[in-house]
Amino acid sequence: MKKEINIIFFGAPGAGKGTQAKKMSCELKLPHIDTGSLIREAITNKTELGIRAQQFVESGKLVPDNLVINLIKEKLIILKDRNFNGFILDGFPRTIPQADALKTLLEELKLELTYVLNIQAPENILIKRLSSRRLCSNKNCGAIFNLITKRPKEENKCDLCGSPLYQRKDDTEEAAKERLNEYHNKTAPLEKYYRDQNKLADIAGTKDSEDVYNEIIKILYLCQ
Ligand code: AMP
Repeated sequence: MKKEINIIFFGAPGAGKGTQAKKMSCELKLPHIDTGSLIREAITNKTELGIRAQQFVESGKLVPDNLVINLIKEKLIILKDRNFNGFILDGFPRTIPQADALKTLLEELKLELTYVLNIQAPENILIKRLSSRRLCSNKNCGAIFNLITKRPKEENKCDLCGSPLYQRKDDTEEAAKERLNEYHNKTAPLEKYYRDQNKLADIAGTKDSEDVYNEIIKILYLCQ
C-alpha cells in the first residue's frame, strides 16, 4: 500500500466509524484523530474548549464549527511536523464549512485525501446501537460493549480490564435522536460534497464488524 493514507470515516452516529477507525489505526499504525473523544477529554479537563462545548455535546447538538476547526488545525499541523504517514479522521468534518476548512488546510499542508469511507446503517439500528452502547471507564482501555450485540461477560464490568462500564450522556435515546437530527440536517449534505469529488466509498455498516473492516481494506488496496 502507498505510504501515505489520509482517510475520513464518515457516517451517522452509531454507524461504527469509531470501531473501524480504531482497528485501522492499530493495524496500519496511522494516527487516529477522533473529534468526539478530543472534545470529551476537553470537557473532563475543563479546558476553554470543554467549557464551551459541554452543553452542545450533552444535548446531542454539534459543537460550533470554529471550535472544532481550530482543534483539527492544531492536530494536523503537529502531525505533519512528525514522521508523517497519514491520518484517520473520525467524526470530522461534520458540516460543509468544516469540509471547506479541511480542504484549505490540506492544500496548505500539501496533503491529499485518499478516501472518505461512508459507513451506512438504517436509523432503527443506529438508535438501538447508541442506546445500548456501554464504554469502559478506564481511559487506557476504552473498550466498547453493546448490551445487544457484544454483552460484557459480567454485568457492568469490562471484559478486558475489569473496570466499571458507563453510558455516555449523549447515548440516551433522547440525545441519540437529537444527534441523528443534527446528522440529517448538517452532516448528510457532505455525502454529495465528497461524492462529487469522487472521494466517497459506500460501505454497508450492518454487517459483522470484521467483514466491514475487510471490505474497507479491500477498497484501500484497490485505490492504490
Ligand atoms: P462522537 O463521539 O463522534 O459521536 O461525537 C460526540 C459529540 O461531539 C457530537 O455529538 C458533537 O456534539 C461533538 N462533535 C464531535 N465531532 C464534531 C464535529 N466535527 N463538529 C461538531 N461537533 C462535533
